[in-house]
Amino acid sequence: MRLSYARFDLKLKHTFTISRSSRDVSPVDLVQIEHNGVIGFGEAAPSTRYGESVDSVEQFLSKLAFEKFDDPFQLESVLTYVDCTAPDNSSAKAAVDIALHDLVGKLLGLPLCVYWGLDREKTPLTSFTIGIDAPPVIEQKVREAEEYPILKIKLGGTNDEEIIRTIRKVTQKTLRVDANEGWKTREVAVERIKWLEQEGVEFIEQPMPAADLRGTAWVRERVNLPLIADESSARLHDVPKLQGVFDGINIKLMKCAGLREAMRMIHTARACGLKVMVGCMIESSVGISAAAQLSPLVDYADLDGNVLVSNDPFEGVSIVNGKLKLPNRPGIGVMTKSD
Ligand code: MG
Repeated sequence: MRLSYARFDLKLKHTFTISRSSRDVSPVDLVQIEHNGVIGFGEAAPSTRYGESVDSVEQFLSKLAFEKFDDPFQLESVLTYVDCTAPDNSSAKAAVDIALHDLVGKLLGLPLCVYWGLDREKTPLTSFTIGIDAPPVIEQKVREAEEYPILKIKLGGTNDEEIIRTIRKVTQKTLRVDANEGWKTREVAVERIKWLEQEGVEFIEQPMPAADLRGTAWVRERVNLPLIADESSARLHDVPKLQGVFDGINIKLMKCAGLREAMRMIHTARACGLKVMVGCMIESSVGISAAAQLSPLVDYADLDGNVLVSNDPFEGVSIVNGKLKLPNRPGIGVMTKSD
C-alpha cells in the first residue's frame, strides 16, 4: 500500500472563537492510501490543545513505512503499528485509520455503516455550533442556522449570560452548552450551570479543566443538567475513570486515533453507563463523513465542522432538517467536488 498526504487550508465562513482560541483558517492534512488503483481518503485536523499541528502530523506520517503492508484488511496489525510508532499524534493516526477504513469499504463495495451492521436510517440529529462572539454577530449566526433544530453554544468566556440572552431573544430551540474547560473554579461552574438550567439547555460539555475530575464530580453533585466529557475523554483508557464524574462522553476521531478506537470507546462507555456523543474539529467532509458512519450508535451528534467551512474540497454526509443523511457510497462515502 502507498500512503501520501498534502496540507490544505480550510477557510471558515465566520471567525471561530471558543474559550481558548480564535481563528479564520484551519489547516488540515488530507491523506490517501492507494492499493491496486483503489484510493482511500483520510484527514488529520490537528488541534494545538492536544499538542498537534500540520507540521507534527506530517512529521509523524513521514515515519510510517507503509510499503511493507500489502493487505488493507489487516486493520488490526496496520493500525497497531501506526499507534506504536510514536505516542500522541492522535489526529495523524486518525487520518491513516480513516483512509484505511475507506479503502476497505471501497474494496468491499459497502458503506462502513453497512459493513458494521448499523441501520443507516438511525442517524441522530446534529447540533450546529455557535462560537463566542458579540451579540449582533451571534444573532446573525443564529438566524443563519435556521434549518438546525439544536444549537451548540460555546461559552466559558466573559459574556456567557449576554450570549444566552441574545440567543433566547431570537429562538427557543434546544441549546447544548460547551464551556471548553472555561469555568476555572467549581463554584463558578455550579453558578453558571444553575443559571443555564432555567434557559432550556439540554446538557453541559466540559465545564471544568480536563484534569480536574474531582472538581467536576463535585459540580455534578450540585447541578441537574447532565455533564458530557470532551477534553477529559480523549482515548479509550480515559473512559472508565469518567464513571461517576460525567454523564457521557464526546468522542472525536481526531482525539482517539480513528474509527477503530472510537468503536471501542462507544462500547466501553455503554458498559460504564455513559451516554455517547460523536463530535468533531473543524474538518472537511472526509473527517465528518467518517465519524457520521458511527452515528447510528450514539445518543447525540455534533458533526457540523464541514458546514462551518467555505472551501470543503469533498462532499459526503449531508444534513436534512438537522438529521445526518449517510450517502449511498462505499467506505466513508465521500467524493471530490469535481467528480
Ligand atoms: Mg467540546
